[in-house]
Amino acid sequence: MEQNKLWVVAENVDEGLREASFEVLTEVARLASRRGDQIMVLFCSAPDADVNKIGVELASYGADALLPLEVVPNSSRCVGGAIADLAKECRPDAIFIAETIWGHDVAAWVAAKLRTTLLSNCVELGLGPDQELTVTRHVYSDTVAVKYASLGEQTMVITIQPGLFNVKKAFPGKTINLLERHAAQAQNPDPVQVLGFIKADPRTVDIVDAERLVVGGKGMGTAENYKLIHEVAEILGAAVGGTRVARDNGWVTLDRQIGQTGKTVAPELLISCGVSGAIQHTMGLKETKCLVAINTDKHAPIHKLADLSIVDDAPRVLKEFIAKIKTG
Ligand SMILES: Cc1cc2nc3c(=O)[nH]c(=O)nc-3n(C[C@H](O)[C@H](O)[C@H](O)COP(=O)(O)OP(=O)(O)OC[C@H]3O[C@@H](n4cnc5c(N)ncnc54)[C@H](O)[C@@H]3O)c2cc1C
Repeated sequence: MEQNKLWVVAENVDEGLREASFEVLTEVARLASRRGDQIMVLFCSAPDADVNKIGVELASYGADALLPLEVVPNSSRCVGGAIADLAKECRPDAIFIAETIWGHDVAAWVAAKLRTTLLSNCVELGLGPDQELTVTRHVYSDTVAVKYASLGEQTMVITIQPGLFNVKKAFPGKTINLLERHAAQAQNPDPVQVLGFIKADPRTVDIVDAERLVVGGKGMGTAENYKLIHEVAEILGAAVGGTRVARDNGWVTLDRQIGQTGKTVAPELLISCGVSGAIQHTMGLKETKCLVAINTDKHAPIHKLADLSIVDDAPRVLKEFIAKIKTG
């Protein structure tokens, strides 16, 4: 484990590992290949998880080793403590985690137990003139970017904002060193207990995490028409997104923009209204499971990606949809 200088803590979700963990791994692998570093991925494995399969997948993203963890109880505090104990022994240069709710919590525990700095919500990773790790994060409501460099004495704990980096299997056929499952039992009882999860309001949820999205583009025409996007989103329990033109027009805020200079989304359902389907936009929605496109131009590129194409006036279709729902 000692030769693995960069650690990536991956997060489990029902279907496997969270997309944001692959984003982190892709970006860390880019750095590691420049510095000649080895990457170890740690993840809390369910007893029945197919770690071989997970290992093969992680290797193709650049992981050199995989350490499945079995932590009891499986709380952020205990997982963070177990990772910190391992890090005290192996002294990696940095531990990277996606800045999700779970990642934020675990990273804080790891940093606290290691008595090191936590650099949260970083937006850029790089290397300095002496190949030292550098990270950039935004502060003061995104008005200032601060760049930090590692002094190499302590392990850095870094969380990375999801949705910024594209995932890339840049290492097809690479093999991985599958390490023996590491079991850890917390000594002290957890002072807090998670009682349950309350589902977020879909209207305010981060579009990266949204299960359903209604997205509007220039074809919606006016701010007044854009209200229909919100109305349909409310009916469907969906979040609202937009194109850059929608953002430029002030119909959505930057954090709701999808695409190259916005966010990458992965909803089960996305209804795209008056959006042409420019590559800079569609690169942010390629993980969408079911795409419905409403556009008056039958040759618009968005129709080529759509599972269901409606060649029609978007505000009219949305109004009709709302009316149908209201009349039952
Ligand atoms: C470096 C760079 C980065 C970029 N990053 C992003 C990014 O992150 N996200 C992003 O979205 N864009 C980005 N863009 C801009 C991108 O290239 C497109 O210009 C943008 O996505 C187009 O937005 P749109 O689809 O709303 O508008 P348009 O391309 O103008 O399309 C409007 C569509 O609406 C249709 N339409 C018109 N009237 C109606 C109606 N009544 N009903 C239904 N359909 C109608 C039209 O047929 C048309 O297809 C970037 C560009 C560059 C150069």
